[in-house]
Amino acid sequence: MKFPESKTKIVCTLGPVSNNKKIIKELVLAGMNVARLNLAHDELDYHRKTLENIREVEKELGIFLTVMMDIPGPKIRIGKIKDGPILLKKGQTVRLTTKNIIGDESIIPVEYESLFKSIEKGSLVYLYDGFIQMRVIEIRDDVALCQVMTGGKLDSHKGLNLPKAKITIDPIREQDLKLISFGLEEGVTVFGISFVEKAEDILKVKEFARKKGKKIFTVAKIEREEAVKNIDEIIKVTDGIMVARGDLGVQVDIEDIPVIQKKLIAKANRMSKPVITATQMLVSMTDHIRPTRSEVTDVANAILDGTDATMLSEETAVGQFPVEAVRMMTDIAVSTEREYRSFHHHSSLCDELRLSFQREKPLVEDIISMHTMESSQIIRAKYILAPTESGNTARRISRFKPYCWILAFTPNPEVASFLAFSYGVISFMIDRNKNDWYSRIMELLKEKKLAKKGDYLILTEGTIKKKTGGTDSMRIISVD
Ligand code: PEP
Repeated sequence: MKFPESKTKIVCTLGPVSNNKKIIKELVLAGMNVARLNLAHDELDYHRKTLENIREVEKELGIFLTVMMDIPGPKIRIGKIKDGPILLKKGQTVRLTTKNIIGDESIIPVEYESLFKSIEKGSLVYLYDGFIQMRVIEIRDDVALCQVMTGGKLDSHKGLNLPKAKITIDPIREQDLKLISFGLEEGVTVFGISFVEKAEDILKVKEFARKKGKKIFTVAKIEREEAVKNIDEIIKVTDGIMVARGDLGVQVDIEDIPVIQKKLIAKANRMSKPVITATQMLVSMTDHIRPTRSEVTDVANAILDGTDATMLSEETAVGQFPVEAVRMMTDIAVSTEREYRSFHHHSSLCDELRLSFQREKPLVEDIISMHTMESSQIIRAKYILAPTESGNTARRISRFKPYCWILAFTPNPEVASFLAFSYGVISFMIDRNKNDWYSRIMELLKEKKLAKKGDYLILTEGTIKKKTGGTDSMRIISVD
């Protein structure tokens, strides 16, 4: 059996240049672990076709590829612009309206009915990911007069951001739920949820799926200031998070992003939820075959911060070098992971946990996962073996980023699929009815020629039968 090259997981957005079978296959071979479909773009039939292509590649390669459907949420956009792109110049004034008109250099339609509840004189208005910046100088008769501070080219339907403003649109609208229904019908179980503000937004989509008889895994995209403030509550209820630096970079001051990223990753690690670092990681590779030095450093730093996964967006969706971008991501990850231990990620997380044990009642799973990781380092274990019904045990160990692979054994295909986001975890399906996990796992390792005489393995177990989430012991196995 061939293992992936990097333990860091790679999420690739599929788009016009990469949604065909040939490129999907090449992306997998270059290191893609999760295919992301961005439902902000294109018709449902288009995404259905991409899913079909993914399923065919799976069959051809004999693999299972996790798919994440990214639900767009209420991204505010401008309307249509006549003969776009237009050029907005520094110092000029331009009006914003919520009327459904065709815009030009003097007036721009905005698709957000409550615009005037969210802005006032002095408010900042950013267009096109913050490349164009304006300030409101007057509001009169349902028109906001703005002065352009940073000019640039603007085309129809580009995004509009109102930094620090209160947005009065529910992050989970009827149309977002419809997209989730579409995903469920197509067999998708992982959903990226955009513009989350609070824990209730995640609970709402989970409840929606539950009523349809489905359990879903949510990745809460952290891209609003409110979400950063409410992060503890959000992490408690979501299955994973994404540091969505694109929109975040226009909702908060751009210079605050690095520290927010580090804090979000640390919190997700602490709470054993996988975290994806996203957006512009290798963006220059959209048009160039080599990334910049600072992009390479950004990817490596995210890994050293403790991210589980890194994500590519336009690089793989519309770029000229999608496969090379994934290859580059894999190479950076492999090189960085080699040096991981010198950066003491695991020891600072252990120190933090030990301190928390003095303040609050320790969880058995926290103690077991910490000692599993420490024992694996001491004994130089070949693998950590983690039977898991919910994926929880594997995730708790994965957060320490041990140097050896974590092999997760689960009877649940959805759990196996979601473990594709967790650093260093490889999942195997195993029969639930066979009570003796141990013999089944050892048989499987033998079948796949994964362990040889003299290897040390560490196995985590729940000794109380029929209790999910009851991992309460670990043992060291010497293969004979
Ligand atoms: C982001 O804003 O960083 C992001 C990943 O979301 P989207 O691609 O939907 O803009």
